[in-house]
Amino acid sequence: MRRTAEALQAGLAALDAQQLRRRVVIPPPGAIDFSSNDYLGLRRHPKLAEAMAAAAQILGAGSGAAHLVTGHGPEHDALERELAAWLGRERVLLFSTGYMANIGALAAVVGRGDLVLQDRLNHASLIDAGVLSRGRLQRYAHLDTAGASDALIQWRADNLAGGAAIVTDGVFSMDGVLAPLPQLAQIARGGGAWLLVDDAHGLGVLGANGLGSLEHFGLRADDAPLLVGTLGKAFGSFGAFVAGERDLIDWVLQKARTYIYTTALPQPVAAASRAALQLVQTEGWRRELLFSHIVRFRERCAAARIPLVESTTPIQPLILDDPGRALKISDWLLTHGLIVKAIRPPTVPAGSCRLRITLSAAHRTEDIDRLTDLLSEGLRA
Ligand SMILES: *Cc1c(COP(=O)(O)O)cnc(C)c1O
Repeated sequence: MRRTAEALQAGLAALDAQQLRRRVVIPPPGAIDFSSNDYLGLRRHPKLAEAMAAAAQILGAGSGAAHLVTGHGPEHDALERELAAWLGRERVLLFSTGYMANIGALAAVVGRGDLVLQDRLNHASLIDAGVLSRGRLQRYAHLDTAGASDALIQWRADNLAGGAAIVTDGVFSMDGVLAPLPQLAQIARGGGAWLLVDDAHGLGVLGANGLGSLEHFGLRADDAPLLVGTLGKAFGSFGAFVAGERDLIDWVLQKARTYIYTTALPQPVAAASRAALQLVQTEGWRRELLFSHIVRFRERCAAARIPLVESTTPIQPLILDDPGRALKISDWLLTHGLIVKAIRPPTVPAGSCRLRITLSAAHRTEDIDRLTDLLSEGLRA
């Protein structure tokens, strides 16, 4: 783009014309949020706020430096240990965001000339991690384990000693579908590749103990040696981590520029995450309530002939043809006090605009019923 005011205006006008211009809005207070990732309803839990306030009083608001300088403190250390114990992993390394954790984790195990295999619908941060790793980025069709396997076998035939990684969302963020982790784990093992699972939407939610997609499938830690988790979703806090074997995580610490060259997460935020971890472990009723909402939502949609994606997770998208319609229904729902965001390309593939509906233990049964009633009315209009 040339550096002119006209060029910018033309670029923005083109997005407007396609109904694809992004905008930031402050959610109206009091509206019921059906688009957050606060699956367990912990974001506003008083225990998180209290832990955060108490830590801020003692330790201060900011961390003051990167982890490897003087920014690492007792709250970080405790959170890393508690997460590792909960997950049954030898070591956990905190990152400031999931975006940065993915970039750091992948860069640690993949370099120039290595193969990076990714599901086509992986989260943008994983795709960017692949680009920044300088590896050979190759994408397979969504959930296509045969495609992933063929690509790895073919590449391995010419690169006996090269590094390779298979990278996947545990739960796909825009359609709520689970990755075929048992098959991917087997393919990765057979082809001498690392499997990196980004379980941003599975941790805290799936599995009897909320341990995520791996627990859901009954997989062991060494099936997915690199596990990325985020603390800003089901944990209702902020931050992220990479979990794995001791030496591997120490290797990530040596190599990850997104860990080394950035200010450490504030300790009050880590304290809030510790409080959240306690609740994730002790309040199993949150997962039970969430899944009863999912069942009720799907039953009521089926009765009203509202077509949904085959998702068993709290992410329950409603695919609509064009962005204008998705925006219109989203705006109409907002006038009735429901936040249901329209997700448009390039966040999702062209022609697959959607209302990304997410359910939460913070919802009441009446909220679910109101949502399905209004969706049914809005879709008929
Ligand atoms: C949200 C998300 C991230 C990014 O995590 P942040 O902590 O928000 O940066 C990474 N991967 C997936 C699959 C996500 O949904």
